[in-house]
Amino acid sequence: MIVGDLKPLAEIVAAVREYKQVLVLGCGSCVTVCLSGGEREAEQLSYELSQIRHYQGAPPKFEVSSILRQCERDLVLEYQKLPAGTEAVLSLACGAGVQTLADAFEPLPVIPALNTTFLGASDKPGIWTEKCKGCGDCILLHTGGICPIARCAKSLFNGPCGGSKGGYCEVGEGIPCAWAQIVARLKRMDKMSYYEEIRVPKDWRPGGATGPRKRVRIGLGDG
Ligand code: SF4
Ligand code: SF4
Repeated sequence: MIVGDLKPLAEIVAAVREYKQVLVLGCGSCVTVCLSGGEREAEQLSYELSQIRHYQGAPPKFEVSSILRQCERDLVLEYQKLPAGTEAVLSLACGAGVQTLADAFEPLPVIPALNTTFLGASDKPGIWTEKCKGCGDCILLHTGGICPIARCAKSLFNGPCGGSKGGYCEVGEGIPCAWAQIVARLKRMDKMSYYEEIRVPKDWRPGGATGPRKRVRIGLGDG
């Protein structure tokens, strides 16, 4: 899922205070699961933003709503009817959702309430960790299902650097060395032959090096 964190309140207040009426719009997918941008968070943020202590004059009026996915233009247009008087939308979606709203509602200002942080997963309740950088050419088959691009601090492709110590990364803070994890898992899988393959320098074009990427749906076997 895409993980995001709420921006500092002062930053959001500074962005909304010039408007008389703002729609606070939650997103019902990834950011709901990671407890940063769903309907409940939209209600809580609206309540906090309504407090007069944040403003020198009167606070804006806040309306609250939520849609299933802000990153789908059809859903945005079909389900979201803006309340009369809306001067800006405060989006609790990831950056993809904010941009979809901005396109759909132009010239209405769409303000991001979250900082989109990473593609991750929840290993334990309440904790999400980065797992993927969307490189466009997945090599997890060869690395025991552990991504060296997202989970190694240096995104190394052919084994650990000299800083790996006792199974931990030299960046500290108790972060596991991804390559120590990869090697340990490949051994358990009896697949060390993958580790012994030399990986040539990666072609980053599928990873976005040539500009924004686009995916067009094709049938199985067509591509
Ligand atoms: S190898 Fe690429 S696509 Fe696969 S998990 Fe890592 S970043 Fe994501
Ligand atoms: S210690 Fe391990 S995870 Fe950290 S940069 Fe080196 S190889 Fe990557």
